[in-house]
Amino acid sequence: MLKVFLKVLSGVLIIIIVVMLVKTFSFTSRQINPEPASDFKIDSEKAARNLADAVRIPTISFAKKGRNNGDEFLRFHKYLEQTYPRLHKNLKKEIINKYSLLYTWRGSDKAKKPIVLMAHMDVVPVEEKSKDQWKYGPFAGSVAEGYIWGRGTLDNKGNLMGILEAVEGLLKKGFRPQQTIYIVSGHDEEIGGMHGALTIVTLLKARAVRPDFVLDEGMVITDGIMPGISSRVGLIGLAEKGYLSVELLAVSEGGHSSLPPRETAVGILCRAITRLENNPLPARLDGPAKFMFDYIGREMSFVNRVVFANLWITEGILKSQLQKIKTTNAIIRTTTAPTMLEGSSRDNVLPNVARAVVNFRILPGDTPQIVLEHIKQTLDDRRIEIKPLGNKIQGASPVAAVESKNYRVIEKAIRQVFPNVIVAPSLAIVASDARHFAALTPDVYRFAPMSLKFDDLARLHGINERLAVDNYVLMIKFYMQLISNSQQ
Ligand SMILES: [Zn+2]
Repeated sequence: MLKVFLKVLSGVLIIIIVVMLVKTFSFTSRQINPEPASDFKIDSEKAARNLADAVRIPTISFAKKGRNNGDEFLRFHKYLEQTYPRLHKNLKKEIINKYSLLYTWRGSDKAKKPIVLMAHMDVVPVEEKSKDQWKYGPFAGSVAEGYIWGRGTLDNKGNLMGILEAVEGLLKKGFRPQQTIYIVSGHDEEIGGMHGALTIVTLLKARAVRPDFVLDEGMVITDGIMPGISSRVGLIGLAEKGYLSVELLAVSEGGHSSLPPRETAVGILCRAITRLENNPLPARLDGPAKFMFDYIGREMSFVNRVVFANLWITEGILKSQLQKIKTTNAIIRTTTAPTMLEGSSRDNVLPNVARAVVNFRILPGDTPQIVLEHIKQTLDDRRIEIKPLGNKIQGASPVAAVESKNYRVIEKAIRQVFPNVIVAPSLAIVASDARHFAALTPDVYRFAPMSLKFDDLARLHGINERLAVDNYVLMIKFYMQLISNSQQ
């Protein structure tokens, strides 16, 4: 009996191994190998200088109302006019809500659907106390050590100037697009984009503009950030996660701290937070994350390929591994992040109410309602009031098509300009102006052609923000190539 059982077992094992191997060997690269990039000539010194000068104009978005610095935005508009005369002669410029810009480059073929290229012009403020830690002043506009330094070089003036340089360069060569190209630059992306990008979307909708695709910032070329792969990976965001902050209020007896009740408001609240942290929403390997690992897994070592080619058997183990790394965890689930805590204002006073705020970033497929229901069920405590907070509640965006004509146009331009970079679809974990464009087309992609290493991530909204001059030149080339490719 045992013998028969062992025979059957080894038979089954052999079949599983054979299936796994067959799947692994047919799990081959999805990378395309297009013809080389066109030979665009770019004056790198001049381009770097132009971006550095753009950094010198502090177009800061302040979260607090009343700190309007509109004059800087107008100065920035003027600067763009002077720097890109051909563009301003050939494209129609509209100023939306005083400071945002919408350029229209009319195409020769009216039958073709237009495309939209986006990059916001506003930047986040620089914390007063961090100013001395900048190697070069945040608004000095320095070009040194092979980099352009300053606030906005990565987020997002580099992209904006890159797009404008590309258009100016193409115009100089006598290029005229077949399809109309819109360039959208919002002035309030860092505080929600409600006056800039959203107003432009409303306007384009009223004009019945239905873009083929939209390209905005959101994801980048990662260099040594993706685990399990040594090549650089260009991630095209197919969607962005949603946003929900929830206020938790725990109520208990207040009074003097010399006579505490068995359970205090702070204690109740802290247990609730721990429960939420220990019971996150479930991880899922579907949607953009599934596409991403499908593309990247094919470029990995043999052992990793066995894993990614055989999700039918490995999905559970893989998910448990991906959850351990915060960058991959954020791509496979709605994340839970307690961000604010408040009790009493004195060390010897018990608060009546303790307050916490927990921020959730919502995965496509989950919704704010699903998250709220999850919180209620997880806490299951009547002493805690659960309140969605503020006006930033937002479900995840729709998911753009992958392996479509539009995806291919972007993928091709990346592979042409950055031939050694692996290209893969992905999910943007932060919000951008791009989400407003879901009202016009499902094909909204998020990709900025910037190559970032792990320590560069802290420069975004942080100290010593900088962009390599070499990278900036490739960025301009990318936009030139993309515009040329999209005309085919
Ligand atoms: Zn940005």
